[in-house]
Amino acid sequence: MPSTLGDLLAQNTRDGELYDVMSDGRLRCYACGHECPLPEGAVGVCKVRFNQGGRLRVPWGYVGGVQCDPIEKKPFFHAYPGALAYSFGMLGCDLHCAYCQNWVTSQALRDPAAVAPPTQATAQAMVHDAQRLGARVLVSTYNEPLITSEWAVSIFKEAKAAGLVTGFVSNGNGTPRVLEYLRPWIDLYKVDLKSFDDRHYRQLGGRIAPILDTIRRLHAMDVWVEIVTLLIPGFNDSTEELTRLTEFVASVSPDVPWHVTAFHADYKMDDNADTTPDMLQQAAEIGRRAGLRFVYAGNLPGAVGDLENTRCASCRETLVARRGFRIRDYRITPNGCCPSCGTPVPGRFDAHFAGQLASRPSVIRLR
Ligand code: SF4
Repeated sequence: MPSTLGDLLAQNTRDGELYDVMSDGRLRCYACGHECPLPEGAVGVCKVRFNQGGRLRVPWGYVGGVQCDPIEKKPFFHAYPGALAYSFGMLGCDLHCAYCQNWVTSQALRDPAAVAPPTQATAQAMVHDAQRLGARVLVSTYNEPLITSEWAVSIFKEAKAAGLVTGFVSNGNGTPRVLEYLRPWIDLYKVDLKSFDDRHYRQLGGRIAPILDTIRRLHAMDVWVEIVTLLIPGFNDSTEELTRLTEFVASVSPDVPWHVTAFHADYKMDDNADTTPDMLQQAAEIGRRAGLRFVYAGNLPGAVGDLENTRCASCRETLVARRGFRIRDYRITPNGCCPSCGTPVPGRFDAHFAGQLASRPSVIRLR
């Protein structure tokens, strides 16, 4: 019997695809922006990929948890509004954010207080389960999906064959190679842009450059991208930083939705104040001034005025009215346009709004 969670997960692996053998015999992993050089026996920063006998072993055949979420929870606001997103998480992460809200799974291999046993799974069973539950979308989320990209792609291949839409909810710490690897199999990608200061990213265990590069590349690849910034008072909320951050997003495209969401004290970051509705509204105004056409405020349902709704960028008609994850009204036309002025709405939409199966998450047991 394996004695630790790490030992157990090491048994649930197979040979990876995202690595090269370096001239000195070490392996270079390309699944995330760390690009770890791994000598024999070494484990990557993520704690789940390792060099065993000159081959990179990567996670395979399990999940840390499965949940059915409204797609608004991811959040995707411009992709299949109201759809059910069959969401699976793995274990481990390549960053170690002190405020992580999924720390039980993301830090499972780094923090003894985080306990999240894996469940055996197959791609076929998950896709079958997603269809049984009426999901339109299948998403790798909760921990960092890039570090299990080979496993995600094997699931996404099954999902796409079954007509499902696929997506990542990610910190965006990618590499050109992993993005090319994902490209044929992924439709939607949410990036957490946590800050616009490289020093802040280094505190979280990363660098900002790979994240900005990932956002640019995903957009150029025609993957649908939405950006989220968790607004943490005293950490990333200066006008100067938010201006640079939103100007960057607008430079990629003013049509990229930006979600600025409320922080509450969590995990090891419990000294900072909670974000107020006023703070979200001020940040949203900065985003609009930077040229962004679709700015949303999250995590404080009903307290942020119009900032949960999608409005036409041309005539300001309300296209999708929301409260929290619940769709209250849907008016986008079957060809994806504003019903009043005919302006196309950027995003991915079905011809018909099929209603909302669930406006709350539900934990499910994999069959
Ligand atoms: S996924 Fe990232 S952290 Fe993990 S081994 Fe590969 S490069 Fe290193």
